[in-house]
Amino acid sequence: MHSRALVLFSGGQDSTTCLALALSKYEHVETVAFDYGQRHHVELEARLHVLAQIKAQFPHWAGKMGEDHLLDLSVLGQVSETSLTRDMEFKMEEGGLPNTFVPGRNLLFLTLAAALAYRRDLEVIVTGVCETDFSGYPDCRDDTMKAMQLALSLGMDKRYLIETPLMWIDKAQTWQLAHQLGGQPLVDLIVEHTHTCYLGDRVHRHAWGYGCGECPACVLRARGFVRFVATE
Ligand code: ZN
Repeated sequence: MHSRALVLFSGGQDSTTCLALALSKYEHVETVAFDYGQRHHVELEARLHVLAQIKAQFPHWAGKMGEDHLLDLSVLGQVSETSLTRDMEFKMEEGGLPNTFVPGRNLLFLTLAAALAYRRDLEVIVTGVCETDFSGYPDCRDDTMKAMQLALSLGMDKRYLIETPLMWIDKAQTWQLAHQLGGQPLVDLIVEHTHTCYLGDRVHRHAWGYGCGECPACVLRARGFVRFVATE
């Protein structure tokens, strides 16, 4: 039985839901994020608030929460030009991918997470990647995750489990999952403290949380929330 997990935790809705899931399943849970010169440090700040709020509001989870790791991945800004790392407007590229796409980003994240997990003796890596909703990021595909699980397990001679609880559910179901795991308090915490907006907007507050309301991340989050509330 697995008992020790590492969650790729960015401070957004998806990774917060993944963290709650890991805390409900495993005995010891650590978190990791990557600082790659995101245009907006809002995300990195949000994740610390989320961690503090979970500890404060969910005492039965607090005892399972281990170290939080922030790895410097500024090299990503050197190898790719995207609207996440440069001052560029968000848009769709000709190939059908948004210009937030950083080639191989998740492959790097998982490789570094596995190396960290190796040192910290964590056998499960939990990530909020998803094939269901928009994006089409090829490094979020289920097949990519399975290939990475195999490559990392072989390459580090340690049996890793890469867990992707959101892979086949949509954003409304992600809100539902949060509700199942932590009830209304967790939904409220996610609304108030997590950050998803590509533009780093923490000024405009909607029923579903803060954001510009217009970038693809906000639109997805808002639509999912509306459908979630309708089914409650
Ligand atoms: Zn937005």
